[in-house]
Amino acid sequence: MRLQDSLSGKKIELKKTSKPIKLFVCGPTVYDKTHIGHARTYVAFDAFVQYLRYTGQKVFYLINITDVDDKIIAKAQQEQKNPFEIAEFFENDFHQTEKILNIESVTKYARASDHIKEIIAQIKVLIKRGYAYETQHGIYFKVKKFKNYGKLSKQNLNALRPGWRIDIDPEKKDPLDFALWKKSASEIKTSDKKQPAIVDSEPFWKSPWGWGRPGWHIEDTAITEKYFGVQYDIHGGAAELKFPHHESEIAQQESASGKKPLVKIWMHTGVLLVGGQKMSKSLKNFITVDDFVSKYGSNALRLMILNHSYHSPVDYTDETAQAAHNNIISLMQFLLKADFVSKHQKEGFGSLPLKEFEKQITESLDDDFNTPKAMGLLFELVNRIESSIYTLPAGEIKKAARFVQKYFEILGFVLPVPESEIPDKIFNLASEREEFRGNKQFIKADALRNEINELGYSVEDTPFGPFVRKDI
Ligand SMILES: [Zn+2]
Repeated sequence: MRLQDSLSGKKIELKKTSKPIKLFVCGPTVYDKTHIGHARTYVAFDAFVQYLRYTGQKVFYLINITDVDDKIIAKAQQEQKNPFEIAEFFENDFHQTEKILNIESVTKYARASDHIKEIIAQIKVLIKRGYAYETQHGIYFKVKKFKNYGKLSKQNLNALRPGWRIDIDPEKKDPLDFALWKKSASEIKTSDKKQPAIVDSEPFWKSPWGWGRPGWHIEDTAITEKYFGVQYDIHGGAAELKFPHHESEIAQQESASGKKPLVKIWMHTGVLLVGGQKMSKSLKNFITVDDFVSKYGSNALRLMILNHSYHSPVDYTDETAQAAHNNIISLMQFLLKADFVSKHQKEGFGSLPLKEFEKQITESLDDDFNTPKAMGLLFELVNRIESSIYTLPAGEIKKAARFVQKYFEILGFVLPVPESEIPDKIFNLASEREEFRGNKQFIKADALRNEINELGYSVEDTPFGPFVRKDI
């Protein structure tokens, strides 16, 4: 498999190994419901990992949970709650959302608050190696000392400096220096130095520099160093995290270890737009996963996402969502019909080039995980089967339908062949309709068809008589 590394812009070979591939993806900051923009990243990586595992490659897929953060603290203050209560609630909500989206490929979730010891240890190393310094307010990373800061996001740092955030800390040496550790402004008196102290909904831990809490970027590298070591295979995440977050991760870990590169491959997922616009609080155009799924289903969200290369933006509109939903419905109906026809078809001829389809599908997925191409091939195969469904041998139809279903399932779709048991009442209506049709009483036959439809079933005429199915 070859993947386009967003740092070098080159396609890099992901060699097959007997050891697990180490993949880290930036996880959620748990202070709000998961929206479809977040889902875009997690669904794309879930499909990627499921595919790798299908090819026989083991993967250690690690996600961090940011449960110490300004946004969580702000929400906790607003609601006068313990920040960990907020974090726990939304962490559970995140896992619930993953379940709804059939995301089950993650090997390990690591909370920032469970890794304070590792965070402090990494900051100590950075201070010792001259890459970090202490002020009254915190510990900062010395950006100027790290030569390649800006290489991932291709930023001109000198152009950025003058306008860079108004600083609360006048002791900072460079406006771009970022906090590794934020000191508590108030004095903390507690006898229990092992537990975090909570002051005005803000958590603080005891450290060599007094009570404080970690910055955002350091949690990721402390966590990846613990589970993966100082270098690993793939770092993934949303493209909007390149600067300053991922840039800072590279600076921290490469400075702390003296080894580069931090990772072999950077995989960035494109933004999800809503009607061409970025989702934002001011536009009030956030669409939660719950909202989307209750309208269109979780398979439709996965299809909408995988219809695009993971690099590319996805533009959500009601039309694209509806189209994805319709495609999923026809796919499921196709599976039902293939099942029905293959049970009744006695004779047939011809075959389908499944080997060729398999070759092209795996070639697409191995080429920078080109899911839109693979999706296109699968739907093309569905059309080919449907167009000759009454001439192909039953065994061939069965085999081809299984092939289609298998590939959709590898990419994380949930496609049970829907309930095919039809109540007697519906069957009787369908046979009555057959009689009317036989007697050319078409108006009466149509009335019965409407009645069947109203009861939530549909009827299709086939060479083997009526094919009745439950609406999906
Ligand atoms: Zn991160």
